[in-house]
Amino acid sequence: MKEIVIVSGKGGTGKTSVAASLVALAERLVVADCDVDAADLHLVLEPHIKKTEDFTGGKSAGIVPGRCSNCGKCHEICRFNAVIKDESKQPAYFIDHVACEGCGVCSYFCPGKAIDFKPSVNGQWFISDTRYGPMVHARLGIAAENSGKLVSLVRDQAKIIAEKDNLPYIIVDGPPGIGCPVISSVTGADAVLIVTEPTVSGGHDLERVAELAKHFKIPTFLCINKYDINPEIAKNIEEKTEANGIAVIGRIHYDKAVTEAQIKGLPVVAFQDSAAARDMRTIWENLESVLG
Ligand code: SF4
Ligand code: SF4
Repeated sequence: MKEIVIVSGKGGTGKTSVAASLVALAERLVVADCDVDAADLHLVLEPHIKKTEDFTGGKSAGIVPGRCSNCGKCHEICRFNAVIKDESKQPAYFIDHVACEGCGVCSYFCPGKAIDFKPSVNGQWFISDTRYGPMVHARLGIAAENSGKLVSLVRDQAKIIAEKDNLPYIIVDGPPGIGCPVISSVTGADAVLIVTEPTVSGGHDLERVAELAKHFKIPTFLCINKYDINPEIAKNIEEKTEANGIAVIGRIHYDKAVTEAQIKGLPVVAFQDSAAARDMRTIWENLESVLG
């Protein structure tokens, strides 16, 4: 079983369009949508949810009214200003759950043991059926932390399904950027495919994500989306990338068919014959051949 993670140094490079097309081409696979902060692969794959589970990614504090003596200690020591004072209420203190970082300090120091510190539900994860195969995906709650932990959970569940059903591929739509969730999405993967665009900022973001993949010693490949909108920058990016030991595995034409396919809720390879669809096929064939 091979796990391929599709990432981009930033959002808006076409990462999810590439992921959706590779999903449609892989035939036997599990899909893992690890873009848990802003998942949108489901818009194209239309998953039918079979199983929903809560994600408890951290702890949060809550004041138990009957036990609170209004001493104000929690308000004084919370360095995230998450304990709010409102003298019109009883008790006069309550916790702002958006500001609470779940550090547990208030609960530890409360003299009346009046602060519960319990695992909090930060989101949900799902196992679904799609027309291309099973899919594991998730939704992180608003302002919820621990997206790295949720990404790991989604990948672990995808692996369990791939092993159980003997499926040869896991295709992971990774989060954008280079933060903690991206690290969680690439560690231990068999290959990373970076999707970039031919702009100066695209080149910089690519360098950062390429460094990350190099650090974890993961075979890394590059594809340039809409390369023909600026062939010179595209060439420059390719040269730099290859000098860093990253193989350029494909170029994707700028093609209105990509947007038209999205509007119809389809990966571009399942829409109509187009330059972009042919480019996506080449990328998949190249990936298959390098992964053996
Ligand atoms: S530290 Fe405990 S007893 Fe004091 S105000 Fe806070 S919750 Fe109430
Ligand atoms: S758990 Fe930490 S962040 Fe949350 S209210 Fe208590 S002291 Fe503040």
